[in-house]
Amino acid sequence: MAELKRTVKGTLLENEPMSAHTSYGIGGPAWAYITPRDMSDLSEILHFVNTYSIPTYFVGSGSNLLVADEGIDGIVITLGKSFRKLEISGNKIYAESGVMLGHMVKESIKHNLSGLESMIGIPGTLGGALIMNAGAFGDKISNSLINVDVMTLSGSIIQYDAGDIDFCYRHSTFKENEIIISANFELKEASSETISEKRDIASKGRKKNQPLRFRSAGSVFKNPKPDLAAGYLIDKAGLKGTRSGEAEISTQHANFFINHGQAKASDIINLICIARKKVQEKFDIMLDLEIKTLGFPKDVFQYE
Ligand SMILES: Cc1cc2nc3c(=O)[nH]c(=O)nc-3n(C[C@H](O)[C@H](O)[C@H](O)COP(=O)(O)OP(=O)(O)OC[C@H]3O[C@@H](n4cnc5c(N)ncnc54)[C@H](O)[C@@H]3O)c2cc1C
Repeated sequence: MAELKRTVKGTLLENEPMSAHTSYGIGGPAWAYITPRDMSDLSEILHFVNTYSIPTYFVGSGSNLLVADEGIDGIVITLGKSFRKLEISGNKIYAESGVMLGHMVKESIKHNLSGLESMIGIPGTLGGALIMNAGAFGDKISNSLINVDVMTLSGSIIQYDAGDIDFCYRHSTFKENEIIISANFELKEASSETISEKRDIASKGRKKNQPLRFRSAGSVFKNPKPDLAAGYLIDKAGLKGTRSGEAEISTQHANFFINHGQAKASDIINLICIARKKVQEKFDIMLDLEIKTLGFPKDVFQYE
């Protein structure tokens, strides 16, 4: 730790509770939670973790993450305010991965650029959005992507064209040991009326259907098919309102699991296992997780 502290020029928080860095408000301590000062700091830190083979995880703002109550025996790196440059030139956007997606969406709307407006209201950073291929109401982040810069553990930068990465529903094929630094996008010019209309439909739909007053990580499971929602299956399995400790399957949207205050990761896992079991029994469908998990043994999400 002493040597790591000497290496890091940005912020290093030791034994930092991940509950402070996830939208669930859940998660035990990370051995070190690091926000690099700049690119050269990031490169030095990656060199350090690579040399000592320290388990290292990259996160954005934790809005799609479930972290174990036992925490993370390793380093968590997030790209904060030093990685929030956003530039718009004509119909092109350059953004660093610490930019909040909501900010990028609003800026594109201001410039009468279409392609991101239906993603209004999706929490999180651009980095997280690219990994998750975030999307809503017909738009998805990969649709307007030109290329992405990542940093490898050796500290070098690689550029991927959009076509080098496979993007599908809430999934991309970026490598786990590469951190997304920035990306370029090309949008379509459109009238402000058309863009505002799409934005408003998305915004109203989100407010109507999602339990936004409560802490969650959005949808827990992927929809098994485009026309078959995981939330519908969980609802039809009679599980809305099911509780474990202070966690609850939302009565408003059954694919959102809510932390009412002091819920533990183990409570969310209980609900995950219950939902999987009941949906499997009733519909013969095994639900796949959409949320990403950190710090758990592999088999913990399987029901008995
Ligand atoms: C209320 C609510 C509503 C939501 N609605 C939607 C929705 O409509 N559509 C949708 O798609 N999602 C939705 N989500 C889920 C979430 O907002 C998105 O998945 C978001 O893109 C995650 O971004 P993040 O920065 O929080 O990523 P995190 O949760 O921090 O991380 C997500 C994944 O990305 C990786 N990662 C993050 N940053 C980097 C980086 N720089 N380099 C490499 N890897 C990185 C992490 O390792 C992890 O695997 C919702 C969440 C909430 C809480």
